[in-house]
Amino acid sequence: MSDPEKYTVGWICAITTEFVAARAFLDEEHDGPCQVAQHDNNSYVLGKIGNHNVVIAVLPDVEYGIASAAAVARDMLHSFPNVRIGLMVGIGGGAPSRKRDVRLGDVVVSSRDGGQGGVFQYDYGKTIQNQSFQETGFLDPPPMVLRTAMSKLKSTYEMEGHKLVDDVDRALKKIKKRKKYTRPPPESDRLYRSDVVHPAHSADGCDVTCGNDEANLVVRVERDEEEDDPAIHYGLIASGNQLIKDALIRDKLADDRGVLCFEMESAGLMNHFPCLVIRGICDYSDSHKNKEWQGFAAMMAAAYSRDLLHQIPANKIQEERRISEVLGLIREDLGHLHQTAKEAKTIVATSRLERWLRPPDTSTNFNQARKKWHEGSGQWFLDSATFNEWKHGSRRHLWLYGLAGCGKTILSTTIVDHLQKMNDCFVLEFYFDFNDTVKQQVDGLSRSLLFQLYKFGSHPEHLDNLYKSCQDGQRQPDGRTLLSCLHTMIKGSKAIFVILDALDECTERRDLLECLKEFFTTPDLSHARLLATSRPEEEFLSFIPSWLGKEHCLQLDKDAVDNDIRSYVEARLEHSPEFVSKRLSKDLFEQIRKQIGNRADGMFRWAACQLDSFAVCMSPRAIEKALESLPRDLDETYRRMLRSIPVDIEKDAIRLLQFLVHTKRPLAVSEVVEVIATQADEVPQSFDAKRRLFRETDVLRYCPSLVSLIEVSKGYKTRKELHLAHFSVKEYLLKQDQFDLTSSCIVMTKTCLSYLTDIEGDSSKMRQDFPLARYATMFWTDYATSAETSGEVVQAIVKFLQNEVIFERWCRLGRRCQHAGRLLRQRSSSCLI
Ligand SMILES: [Zn+2]
Repeated sequence: MSDPEKYTVGWICAITTEFVAARAFLDEEHDGPCQVAQHDNNSYVLGKIGNHNVVIAVLPDVEYGIASAAAVARDMLHSFPNVRIGLMVGIGGGAPSRKRDVRLGDVVVSSRDGGQGGVFQYDYGKTIQNQSFQETGFLDPPPMVLRTAMSKLKSTYEMEGHKLVDDVDRALKKIKKRKKYTRPPPESDRLYRSDVVHPAHSADGCDVTCGNDEANLVVRVERDEEEDDPAIHYGLIASGNQLIKDALIRDKLADDRGVLCFEMESAGLMNHFPCLVIRGICDYSDSHKNKEWQGFAAMMAAAYSRDLLHQIPANKIQEERRISEVLGLIREDLGHLHQTAKEAKTIVATSRLERWLRPPDTSTNFNQARKKWHEGSGQWFLDSATFNEWKHGSRRHLWLYGLAGCGKTILSTTIVDHLQKMNDCFVLEFYFDFNDTVKQQVDGLSRSLLFQLYKFGSHPEHLDNLYKSCQDGQRQPDGRTLLSCLHTMIKGSKAIFVILDALDECTERRDLLECLKEFFTTPDLSHARLLATSRPEEEFLSFIPSWLGKEHCLQLDKDAVDNDIRSYVEARLEHSPEFVSKRLSKDLFEQIRKQIGNRADGMFRWAACQLDSFAVCMSPRAIEKALESLPRDLDETYRRMLRSIPVDIEKDAIRLLQFLVHTKRPLAVSEVVEVIATQADEVPQSFDAKRRLFRETDVLRYCPSLVSLIEVSKGYKTRKELHLAHFSVKEYLLKQDQFDLTSSCIVMTKTCLSYLTDIEGDSSKMRQDFPLARYATMFWTDYATSAETSGEVVQAIVKFLQNEVIFERWCRLGRRCQHAGRLLRQRSSSCLI
């Protein structure tokens, strides 16, 4: 029997797999302890690693989690009072991110990261409102002797690489049922994209249900010679009462907090048992089911732990205090740890809510407008008496109206920016946007404002309750409910400014007016001040002044705007590279400044377009000529822009504009490239990959000034979209015959069908190799409906549907469309008869 006093290293495992792995890495195994403390029910294995006597304990079956880990540690310290360093070794869920390439079988070691302890605790799920975690302490960092060993090992691995895989192979020989602990084949390491969710209630593994379709997977290149495989990572481990099984929450915590790994035991342990946490990665903390890697991951973690213990001289451990003594000395200075746990709690709750509420993102509009700011942008308005009276409360609401292109959105964002610098108030913003259908609806407005308030932390409980009442986010609330929740949240908040831009770009006028009226007339909302901008449209003119009082409705002052335009022109001529490189003569500079400044007539957009056209002029003479024949107004400006498109790309440019005017959702640049490469009337092949542009940004050359590239962030990814540059562009185009709904939809239907006909290749990579495939699959039927009077289109549809191969491909691309497709096919064949 072994003497408990001899053991100085305490090693805790949570499940049997980890216990077996730990045991396989003992250099020698000892007999069981001669006695243990009363009431200690732990199972122990004793042995030696290097110069150290190690006691390994495992949590009682099934009861894993924070509380039981703490109990195991407490009992262990009673029975083995001489334990001086602690290790928590086992498996965990990885959090791969752009910064850290974490893969299955890798090892994560808890280590200080960004000023926090190596482990922090989160509370997840039902206990989200529960404050009990505040009782929990953290002991950071782990004992000095472990940290020293860790850095030594780190440098050795950097010099020579690690040999842990060989160690695992050797240790495997000790295990009879070794298949479970052997490294699974690399192809079973599948990291699905965060938006790909494992089907709920499916008992099957991912190999059956989720498959190997590359479009669903995050593609990772094989690790090269220089990299360790599996790799060892040092950083933050998040520990909670439930496992994270949600890729989006995982991504959020990985991005915001730098979490590398999730597990369930350590946080509870830290207060009772200061230790280093070592985790082999067995899954990706998402909804997918993959148990194949648990054994090998446990082996890797144990192999690392053994290597670590071998770095520590025997006497070094004797110099450490006994953990049982240390525990008596702990001062619980937990301030920042509470903060961390709180923040983590908020992140989890917010990201869950965001996914349910799907609020449109206003930052895209803000950033886009901010690019157009110049020195002193909108200062005339910020200095005006009207604005200051509104800001300080002697005016409650303001409506600013002005013609198309007078710079309302730029002004709105300037106001938002100005207000955000004030203390003690919330600033809510929303930009109605002709480019994005979600941003044209009252529903989008309420969702966005609600979420902004929620993020400010202004009575979030109301929205939390709404979430709960919708069966924990299983259902969506109706518009009324959203609005009334918004009112309740505003009522309870401090001073609040709401900026609504471009009311005229909202497509639900009646609902919008209703919603505004309610806002203006509800008495409890008097601490909320609203500023809205729009064009002076009949509907607004006939209602808003009667609600607000005429004195609070303000036509944007042309003279003031003209001054703003002049300073914009100056700023651009002086600072933007396109003009700086031209080294304009003083005389020409003056000419431009005067002519554009004086003739803009309150139209920012007009001035901007003229400067765009000068920017591409090749000589001073060309600018002079352009100055002599400036277009009268925006329509004239756009007409000239269309006419100046070179003949050889004209057809492509028109097709592209038709798409942009009528598209059901914004187009990504990669999709635009495909639209250009699909010349619907070419036979036999319409889509030609060789017509793809070398550089995506060259799409701007097709119709400069009419379109703009916008960067949109979705979750953590950003994508570039091509939008029409201004609402007035869309309006102008809609007035031209070739851009009306029917003509455009004929071209769009034919383009989509031709594209779906001509793309060929590996079906699993289809959506990746052909960026427009998804779009064409989803929307061609919509466009066809608007184009169905065209005989040409009917023919094209019949041809498309009759081709078995192509039809099957379409079905595969959009599984959900399958049913609709059958119906259509039946219908069109009956037409033929
Ligand atoms: Zn799956």
